[in-house]
Amino acid sequence: MTRSGQEYLEALRDGREVWLDGERVKDVSAHPAFRATAASFAGLFDLAHESPHTSELMSGGVHRAYAVPRSYEDLVARRRAYKVWAEASYGFLGRTPDYMASGAAGFAAAPEVFDSGAFKGGENALAYHRRLAEGGLYGAFTITDPACEGLRVVEERDGGILVRGAKTIGTGAVFADEILVGTIEPLAPEAVDRAVTFSVRVDTPGLKLVSRTSYEGNARSVFDQPLSSRYDENDALLVCEDVFVPWERVLTYRDVAATGAIWWETPAYLNFVHQSATRFWTKLEFLTGLAILLVRSNGTDTLPAVTQAIGRLLGMVAQAKAFVLGAEASWEPVAGGRGGVRPGQDISFAQRIMAGELYPRAVADIKLLAGGAIVQTPASARDLLHPELGPVIGKYLRTPGHPAEDRLKLLKLAWDALGSEFAGRHEQYERFYQGAPHVYLTMQTWAGAADDCEALARTCLDGYDLGTKK
Ligand SMILES: Cc1cc2nc3c(=O)[nH]c(=O)nc-3n(C[C@H](O)[C@H](O)[C@H](O)COP(=O)(O)OP(=O)(O)OC[C@H]3O[C@@H](n4cnc5c(N)ncnc54)[C@H](O)[C@@H]3O)c2cc1C
Repeated sequence: MTRSGQEYLEALRDGREVWLDGERVKDVSAHPAFRATAASFAGLFDLAHESPHTSELMSGGVHRAYAVPRSYEDLVARRRAYKVWAEASYGFLGRTPDYMASGAAGFAAAPEVFDSGAFKGGENALAYHRRLAEGGLYGAFTITDPACEGLRVVEERDGGILVRGAKTIGTGAVFADEILVGTIEPLAPEAVDRAVTFSVRVDTPGLKLVSRTSYEGNARSVFDQPLSSRYDENDALLVCEDVFVPWERVLTYRDVAATGAIWWETPAYLNFVHQSATRFWTKLEFLTGLAILLVRSNGTDTLPAVTQAIGRLLGMVAQAKAFVLGAEASWEPVAGGRGGVRPGQDISFAQRIMAGELYPRAVADIKLLAGGAIVQTPASARDLLHPELGPVIGKYLRTPGHPAEDRLKLLKLAWDALGSEFAGRHEQYERFYQGAPHVYLTMQTWAGAADDCEALARTCLDGYDLGTKK
């Protein structure tokens, strides 16, 4: 049985070094910039620990995301588990603990990839996976370099290595138990000092997390900002100032090839996409539901153009769902692995293209349906509660069949999802968290079905010549 939400929250009180607004945050679980989101993560652990969803989420005392999938049925079962957690935040918590759990399960399916160079990290990768699974731990990861030179190894010691430098953007890192640090972009052959992968506890001495602005901290109330006040997973700059990493926590070391290969030659990345594609599908379901409620509240729902716009959004939901089901149905055995399976590669990779393009389109379409009403809401719930002003708002901000309080509740939720600073971050998230377009579009040219496409066009060309009759 995994730990409870309360046990998760207690583990956050470990003296970790989190900075926000020039202040060192004493306790993430109690600070007004983080506590409600920490409670949302705790709620996920409670769902897995003891709830009507426990058996959907857990198998053999371990969350399904940590298990190495061995069949199509296993892929389906883990997707059902992903969906339960995704629905708990309406898709707005991108890095729930099942994300890195699925990546670690990918490592465990092909540990030999960690053993390809002089440093043999396979056993440590298996131990990393075991540690996360047995503890029900929440792993975040920072595998992106900042614009300046990224993190590197500065010294080798008896028991481990000393690392120095920074990594960006650690989503969920302030709420995690451990952070995996590595590099996913190809490194130059001579960049061996930077070719390192390791996972450390968030309270490791010398490790700092510099948090971006907190949307939760800026939210006035749940009524006013229902999403950002509770589901702000945050993104943090990771700074390591001479952090000591014991050998047993090092997964790749001074090995440029292995440092990149662990993402592409194990199913780790494909497992990530399986989890996040399920969450993306859920988020589109939520946004489309919001659009339906908005047009009803606006009284435009029966207009043909509006009905068609809702149809387009529902078509997007079906596309998002199809990518998940299609990747499962096109499963493949893990090459050279230990009997595991992975979601189909070309469909999984293509999900990144679809989602990055679809999300901004869906948001723009719903804003068009919403009109100006999502902007013209009173500053806060206090206006509605005011004895003199409340009735005035009640009179002028209602629509037929929709009392002002209900309508404003909906409009504020819509603005938080579509137009707020939190919403802007989500648009950037859906565009970039799986990599930049120039990277994933290039990858699709070698992972996609280029040969089949070319062969089909070639068959047509070969079927006629100058002399062929009509
Ligand atoms: C909200 C959010 C959360 C994230 N969470 C995490 C996380 O938890 N962990 C983590 O490790 N990373 C995370 N990331 C980082 C993410 O993986 C990177 O943003 C992504 O890989 C792109 O890298 P970059 O930001 O350095 O952009 P760049 O590679 O600098 O690309 C930015 C833009 O520059 C242009 N460009 C740059 N190079 C080229 C080129 N060679 N050819 C053509 N165009 C080019 C493109 O227009 C591209 O869109 C997150 C990002 C966001 C936005």
